[in-house]
Amino acid sequence: MSIHWADRIAEECLEKGKNVIATGITPSGEIHIGNMREVLTGDMIYKALLDLGGEAEFLYIADTFDPLRRLYPFLPESYKEYVGQPLYRIPDPFGCHESYSEHFLDPFLKSLEILDVHPKIYRSHELYKKGLYEDAVRIAIENRDKIAEILESESKRKVSQNWSPYTPLCANCGKINGTEVISVDGYYVKYRCNCGHEGRSDIRKDEGKLGWRIDWPARWRILNVTIEPFGKDHATVGGSYDTGKRVAREIYEYEPPYPVVYEWISLKGHDMSSSKGIVVSIYDVLKAVPPEALRYLIASSRPNKHLNFDPGLSILKLINNLSMLDEKEPLSARELRFSRIEGKAMRIKVPFEHMVNVVQISKGDLQKSKEILARGGYHLDDDELKEWSEYAINWLKNYAPESVKFSVQETIPESALSLDKDLKEGLKRISERLSDELSGEDIHNIIYQAAEDVGITVSRLFEAIYIALLDKKSGPRAGLFIKTVGIDFVKRRFKEVADA
Ligand SMILES: [Zn+2]
Ligand SMILES: [Zn+2]
Repeated sequence: MSIHWADRIAEECLEKGKNVIATGITPSGEIHIGNMREVLTGDMIYKALLDLGGEAEFLYIADTFDPLRRLYPFLPESYKEYVGQPLYRIPDPFGCHESYSEHFLDPFLKSLEILDVHPKIYRSHELYKKGLYEDAVRIAIENRDKIAEILESESKRKVSQNWSPYTPLCANCGKINGTEVISVDGYYVKYRCNCGHEGRSDIRKDEGKLGWRIDWPARWRILNVTIEPFGKDHATVGGSYDTGKRVAREIYEYEPPYPVVYEWISLKGHDMSSSKGIVVSIYDVLKAVPPEALRYLIASSRPNKHLNFDPGLSILKLINNLSMLDEKEPLSARELRFSRIEGKAMRIKVPFEHMVNVVQISKGDLQKSKEILARGGYHLDDDELKEWSEYAINWLKNYAPESVKFSVQETIPESALSLDKDLKEGLKRISERLSDELSGEDIHNIIYQAAEDVGITVSRLFEAIYIALLDKKSGPRAGLFIKTVGIDFVKRRFKEVADA
């Protein structure tokens, strides 16, 4: 019997005593669906530990102290001057938040709430500002040569003569990527910047930071991290986990955390790592997709499995699979547990395809949607109805493929008037046999029978049905669809088309 991946990791780590799971993302741009894997993976391990009766803490560290690396396409030309400055010190390019980093963090933190993920949140610049890095920076500077040797032997890359594990923030130009350390005196690091400025930074404040490969292991010790999910880019041979492990053990005398390496999520075949590819923000996706479904996407695959995410048709499949999980089957029960939003029942009462059809027929009118759903035997309370209509409407607007979109024509479409005689005869026969008691399946059989009676292929008759109702050659499965649109309406329409 297979065990859920989060439970297996939790079991392996339980003996460590209290576990601290750390996740982190640099808020340098829209935080996308690919980044979600990091926090959701951490959250599921956290919940698995608690389920086992373990003690655990879950952290999310926003790398607000990282510099802006380049002028991203969404930035105005004037932001060139901020390249190299820490994100939390750069103004919000959109003018709505207190800083660049807060602009991207804010919707992400809101998304975490919706996803029922509640880590303790840190901003990296604040950790420095509070002096938490004081020892780590001092130790790194004292062990500069040993660290350089670790980096060189692991990454096989030469470290430059004037390299320092610590980079001061220039007090003149505000950049953190152009300074060179001249000397160290107690808490103070003297530097020279590319801009010509010479100054001194205090290691007990946010006046400089450790380079990533040292910052990471330093952070493990500062926050007592025991488990950390990270992208495969950090897991390469000689990559930052390899060097981090040695820096942790040999410099900070700290046992590195249990690594949980995760694969990328690609969007319709495009890799979605943080630095390239199409960006679909989590916040936007959550307007069209219930959070349970996104949690299920992560819960149902091992972290090392590459995921293809297509916010179009994948979503339909995902929601359907989720609603079909069997609680009696142990692995499914755990997937359900990790997909669940605390305090909410698993509410997937209506197949999403059906909901998508319903809102298109009702044109978003809630009362009409309610009636149409009732015809199919689905009863939602008002809150559920509103929530699911919004998902369906937003999904149609932003992600749905053209093939599932339609609009029921209020009057006979022009194209239906010129249908062949035998097709009109087929529609007439369907019209005569339709009645309210019929199920979708019954209607389906009537269509086959009508095609046979008239001597036409059923695929041509299906086409005629969609043309008469939607003014297009294809549409949702016809039996249930006719019932959903309304028997009276369809009877009348088919008769009108036959008589035209
Ligand atoms: Zn903003
Ligand atoms: Zn400078």
